[in-house]
Amino acid sequence: MNSLQMSITIGWLYPKLMSTYGDRGNVITIQRRAQWRGYEVTVLPLDQNSTADDIKSVDVIVGGGAQDRQQEIVMRDLQGTKAEAMRNKIENGTPGVFTCGSPQLLGNYYEPGFGQRIEGLGILDLVSIHPGENTQRCIGNLVIEVTASRLAEELTAMLGTKPYLVGFENHGGRTKLGTVEPLGKVVYGLGNNGEDGTEGAFYRNAIATYSHGPLLPKNPFVADWLIQTALRCKYQQEITLTSLDDTLATQGREAMLKKLKVSLPNVVSTKV
Ligand code: GLN
Repeated sequence: MNSLQMSITIGWLYPKLMSTYGDRGNVITIQRRAQWRGYEVTVLPLDQNSTADDIKSVDVIVGGGAQDRQQEIVMRDLQGTKAEAMRNKIENGTPGVFTCGSPQLLGNYYEPGFGQRIEGLGILDLVSIHPGENTQRCIGNLVIEVTASRLAEELTAMLGTKPYLVGFENHGGRTKLGTVEPLGKVVYGLGNNGEDGTEGAFYRNAIATYSHGPLLPKNPFVADWLIQTALRCKYQQEITLTSLDDTLATQGREAMLKKLKVSLPNVVSTKV
């Protein structure tokens, strides 16, 4: 089967409620980079009008950030068969990228600065607690080295060099990981909690991160990993993506690293 006969469906979690700080850019990046290679792409919003079958039908999942109030609305909707469908998708290896408020929902619980604890789906073994409105938010540029072992290995194979991600964080909640593996270690910024040097989480093929930016246009090789993983899972065959010209994205990353005075052993360029 060639790329012209293959398709992917991107499931976009609650686009109207969960897309702060331009996180919809992650959806657009996956969509365009797959289309440029000749794959047919459908974007399916997964929201209050969707069913568990809609969730079951997607090949890659994108969840953005949200304010505390919106997170509560989403968690009220994401119950029963829908919650079960999400759990099964992630457990079965459907790839996804979940930013900020989304990982908080996939975790065990999120405690807002005031008000009731919001129970999470318990898919990622982590908890998030907002220490209160008088505590400083974690805001600013973020650079991490991906250390989650399988992901780091696969990205290194794609790039020919260690994978670093450049992003921007803006969160009040502090996340503490349980048994789940961190996505990476903080090189610049605060990450999960500003204390233990971890950033995000990686479970099965789900990438959880505090990096907005949005993440994928700044780090397009992660979008390619998601596309490649989605196609491999769906078609059960080896998929190698053709390379794209990412000169501008690479220059953007280099400019940010220079501005932050972060010098990495090898600044990554995108080549699949
Ligand atoms: N409500 C969460 C927090 O402040 C998530 C914010 C976000 O998604 N940007 O921690």
